[in-house]
Amino acid sequence: MSAETAGRAGRAEIDRIESEWEHLASLVSSSLPGWSRTGFSEEDRAARDWVLQRMRDAGLDARQDAAGNVIGYLEGEVPGAPDIVIGSHSDTVPGGGRFDGIVGVLGAIEVARMLRRSGTRLRRGLRVVDFANEEGNPQGVKLVGSRAVAGSLDAAALASRDAEGTTLAALMAGAGHRPEELASARWRASDIAAYLELHIEQGPQLEAQKADIGIVTSICGITTFSLEVRGRRDHAGTMPMDVRQDAMCCAADAVLAVRRVGSSGTATVGTVGQLTTPSPLTNTISEAATVTGEFRSPERAELETMQTAFARELAELDGIHRTSSALAWGHLDAPTPMDQHLSGLALAASLELGQETVQLYSGATHDGVAIAELAPSAMIFIPSRDGRSHCPEEWSDFADVATGIEVLLETVLRVDAAP
Ligand SMILES: [Zn+2]
Repeated sequence: MSAETAGRAGRAEIDRIESEWEHLASLVSSSLPGWSRTGFSEEDRAARDWVLQRMRDAGLDARQDAAGNVIGYLEGEVPGAPDIVIGSHSDTVPGGGRFDGIVGVLGAIEVARMLRRSGTRLRRGLRVVDFANEEGNPQGVKLVGSRAVAGSLDAAALASRDAEGTTLAALMAGAGHRPEELASARWRASDIAAYLELHIEQGPQLEAQKADIGIVTSICGITTFSLEVRGRRDHAGTMPMDVRQDAMCCAADAVLAVRRVGSSGTATVGTVGQLTTPSPLTNTISEAATVTGEFRSPERAELETMQTAFARELAELDGIHRTSSALAWGHLDAPTPMDQHLSGLALAASLELGQETVQLYSGATHDGVAIAELAPSAMIFIPSRDGRSHCPEEWSDFADVATGIEVLLETVLRVDAAP
């Protein structure tokens, strides 16, 4: 477990962080289940105003940009030196938990406070960020705030519509932001020395390895698919089993194929999100079914191998069920490797503080995917109880939160000292 080694700038104030967490986590929707603070909602707006105020209390020069990112700034000693960026996001998925994102936002603010408490002045400027709408929206766009600063939130993304036809731009404008001025939110790569994010692991690896801290090697890539199975509608009582063209049976086998293919690599997963069929009848053989899902891996080659393997399995299933399947792949999001040098500094910082530290990949997507296009990026994980996340049971111990903050600060100091 955690050694009692204080960093150069002292200890994180657990009690204060816990009470801040209690407040921020409680700003949730009254109509959605769990701890729901979805991007650009009323409660998200309240949370952003509150975070802005906490940043100001911490002595940061804080503002909100056109995309809704809350950004606090602590000036460094050397004018013009590229900044160090730390932060995360405070929005949640619908029915989510109380630690995903929040830990990194409150942790980054505490880092700024620890620097000031210890009288430590950085050479570089420090940007503390609460990115807008990391988790995505009904328009299907993720990493909204981080893509805005990285310059990759394009007009097509802003024009994406939800089921009611509302665009992302309208959603953002409705929350008081200025999507038409998005260019003003953009950061210059030459202004950023490094991006560091503290986050909960959201999986069971750290707990299983009895580790205090995980340094992320790579953020998984994702390939999504939509499968349309065509069969033939027939009478459920009269058509013999061996001549049926049962789309439902083929779709059910396809679900199991996703499990097989997703289990085939060293670090792969495969998931079916939905299986739907147009037939509402029980006395009729399904003539059609739709299956949607995804595969993930930290290795691009494994994503491509899974695509090939899944397509091959479907061809066999069509033969068995006398169906015809049309498989469409969505955009392949390539894995995002974290910066090796920066991750090395985080690893050294964690070990110096006496923490049991491992390296692991992230199965979940993070703002680092967008920011890595702009600047060297690294992530520091703390354990999630039972690996649970994106659910109301999501939990991390506050001693681990404090440890993560201290490792984040120690890493910031190392980045600041590096040439
Ligand atoms: Zn998150």
